[in-house]
Amino acid sequence: MNITERIKQDIRGKFRENVSLKDYNTWKVGGCAQYLYEPYDLEDLKSFLNITKKEKITFIGNGSNVLIRDKGVEGYVVCLKDSLNKYYKNNKKQYTFEAGLSCMKIAQITAKNNLTGLEFLCGIPGSLGGALRMNAGCNNGSIWENVLNVTIINKEGALIKKYKKDFDISYRNVNLENGNFFISAKFDLVENGLNNSEDIIKKFLKDRRANQPTGLPSCGSVFKNPKDNYAASLIESLGLKSHRIGGAYISEKHANFIITEKNSKSDDVEDLISHIQKKVFEKMNILLETEVKFIGKK
Ligand SMILES: Cc1cc2nc3c(=O)[nH]c(=O)nc-3n(C[C@H](O)[C@H](O)[C@H](O)COP(=O)(O)OP(=O)(O)OC[C@H]3O[C@@H](n4cnc5c(N)ncnc54)[C@H](O)[C@@H]3O)c2cc1C
Repeated sequence: MNITERIKQDIRGKFRENVSLKDYNTWKVGGCAQYLYEPYDLEDLKSFLNITKKEKITFIGNGSNVLIRDKGVEGYVVCLKDSLNKYYKNNKKQYTFEAGLSCMKIAQITAKNNLTGLEFLCGIPGSLGGALRMNAGCNNGSIWENVLNVTIINKEGALIKKYKKDFDISYRNVNLENGNFFISAKFDLVENGLNNSEDIIKKFLKDRRANQPTGLPSCGSVFKNPKDNYAASLIESLGLKSHRIGGAYISEKHANFIITEKNSKSDDVEDLISHIQKKVFEKMNILLETEVKFIGKK
C-alpha cells in the first residue's frame, strides 16, 4: 500500500489532494497544498504523522502570519484550525488548551472566569499553536509569560512534554526543533482582583479597531520592529502608505499592514515586502526583518 492508500484507510480526519490554501490564510492568497490534512483528534494526528514520518510536513493554524506562495506547498500541510480545540481546567485553576483553539476563544474562556494574563489574546486572530510558535503578543502581554508546560508532537507522532525553561523565547520567535509541533499548552493564571477581564478585552478590541485596518485581509504587522524604532513609523515617514503592487497595498491606517484585494497574488505581497525593505534600507540603512513566515515554493 502506498502512503495515500494507508492514509485513506487508517485516518479519520479530512484528507485531500491539491487543495487551494486561499481559504486557509488571512491574506486569502497563494497556491495549493499538494496534500491537506485536518486531524479528527490527537490520536488521529499521531497515526497520520506515523504514516508520513519520512515526508515533508508543514503545520499551519489559522494562517494569520503566513504568506503562502503562489506556486503552492509541496508535501503535507497539516491544518489545526478546526480541530484540536479542546480544553481542560484543573483544581488549581490551571488551564490546558489544545493548539487548534483560537486565541480569541482562549481570551474569552479565561476572562469569563476572571483569570488574568491572557486578555491580550482577544485581538490576535490566530490559533494557540501559531501563537506559541510566533511568541505572539500585544498590549504588554505575550503568550509564553504564563505557560507552565507544553506538549509537542514529533515527526513520528510521539508526544513530548517540555517546560518553558526548555525554550529560548525571543521577540516573535521561539526555538522549536525542525519536525516538532505544538499540540497543547498549560497555563498558570491568577485571579483578576482589581479589574474585570471582560472589560479589559472590550477596551483592547476598541483600541484595535481605532488603530488597525481590522476586517480587511492582512497578516497583521508584516515587519518586526527594529531596535528602538517602529517599522510602521519608518514606512510612513517614507511616504509609502497606500503604495501598491498589483492587488496588494500598504494600509492607510497602519503602515506595517499590507492589505490584499480579491484576486491579489502572493507575488504582489512579496514584491511589495521587498520594495519596502529596499526603500527603508536605501534611505535609513535599516534592514526590516519580516515577522510573517513564507511558506511554499518561490
Ligand atoms: C489583523 C491581525 C492582527 C494581528 N495582530 C497581532 C498582534 O497584535 N500580535 C502578534 O503577535 N501577532 C499578531 N498577528 C499575527 C498572528 O495572528 C499571530 O502571529 C498568530 O499567533 C499566528 O497564529 P496562526 O495560528 O494564524 O499561525 P499561522 O499563521 O498558521 O502560522 C504561523 C507560524 O507558526 C507555525 N505553526 C502554526 N501552528 C503550529 C503548531 N501547532 N506548531 C508549530 N508551529 C506552528 C507555522 O508553520 C508558521 O511558521 C495579527 C494578525 C492579523 C491578521
